[in-house]
Amino acid sequence: MAQLRSYRSTGLIGQSSGAAVAALKARAAAWDVPLTENAEQLAMSVWGCELRLTPHGDSLSVDLAAPEERLIGTLRDSATEIFAEVGLQVAWDHVDAGALAPGLSLMRVASVHDLTPGFIRVRLTGEDTARFTEGGMHFRLLLPPAGRTAIWPRVQPTGRVGWPEGADALHRAVYTVAAYGPGWLDFDIFRHAGSPTCDWAADRALGMTVGIMGPGGGTCPTAPRVHLFGDETALPAMRRILAEAPGAVTATIRASVADLGDLAQDARVHSADDLVWAVADTDIAPEDHVWFAASADESKFARKALIARGHAKRDMMIAAYWS
Ligand SMILES: Cc1cc2nc3c(=O)[nH]c(=O)nc-3n(C[C@H](O)[C@H](O)[C@H](O)COP(=O)(O)OP(=O)(O)OC[C@H]3O[C@@H](n4cnc5c(N)ncnc54)[C@H](O)[C@@H]3O)c2cc1C
Repeated sequence: MAQLRSYRSTGLIGQSSGAAVAALKARAAAWDVPLTENAEQLAMSVWGCELRLTPHGDSLSVDLAAPEERLIGTLRDSATEIFAEVGLQVAWDHVDAGALAPGLSLMRVASVHDLTPGFIRVRLTGEDTARFTEGGMHFRLLLPPAGRTAIWPRVQPTGRVGWPEGADALHRAVYTVAAYGPGWLDFDIFRHAGSPTCDWAADRALGMTVGIMGPGGGTCPTAPRVHLFGDETALPAMRRILAEAPGAVTATIRASVADLGDLAQDARVHSADDLVWAVADTDIAPEDHVWFAASADESKFARKALIARGHAKRDMMIAAYWS
């Protein structure tokens, strides 16, 4: 919690409003994150940060605390949006108006090559790569439309982030840092039909400047025993977890032998076409951690199956990687 106090920001809503309290409660429920309430204040915890709402007579203060400066910016964006939705404006003590969106770094595409039959590997270089090697394993890749000059999302005077729209709207798929070193990071794109990211990689990526936003979206599980289940899109993340997790890890993967590469020889790795069936068929102890990432439908069924057999929600990470 000491870390949580590292970065702070305060805002003021110039009217006492039950609508602000209701809006924060609704958002905490929608995001399924903890909310604590007492007679003096209401606090929502999210991404290791805290958003606290305190009534003072005829106004409300909004206090943000986060372990990283970029998360303060992200939380300020969300808080501004949450209260704006119910017609309330927050006057923030400080806003970096005009700055790139919090967590956004611009990088150069240094190389693109076929890694395996099913994957394209892309290397990005830039001053900021080290930031993406700690914390979350994932990032959002921001690509401008072909033939357009990139318009990057920037902080507006209100505290909200303004995203380019219409013909300048960015494509924003999520990827996993597959490998990294000083000044560079690699990610692996699974080839599939109708993919704007695959088309970009094939046609126009090399030498281009792209935006990457993060890191976020999940860290390496640290439980003593971990069961991974995932499809090709989860292969880069599973490869990292198999290499980095401190506990005993097994992985059930839906990918071709050629795409598995060295993992095809790893005794901890099994193949399965039906990942939901594989979950049902695996001996999972109540204290084991289950990590599942595949299509939205498969993730929904896997979650249902695990909850039905009594597995605790805190011991599972079930993610929809695509839909
Ligand atoms: C935390 C996280 C980490 C991820 N890491 C990776 C990664 O390292 N490598 C990777 O390749 N993907 C990864 N993904 C998945 C990736 O973000 C999605 O597959 C995304 O849709 C890819 O964008 P796109 O431009 O290819 O297609 P989109 O524009 O998103 O979709 C275009 C069409 O392709 C379809 N589609 C999307 N994914 C697939 C698929 N896998 N198979 C078949 N059809 C599909 C969509 O339904 C849609 O019809 C990750 C996702 C998450 C949430």
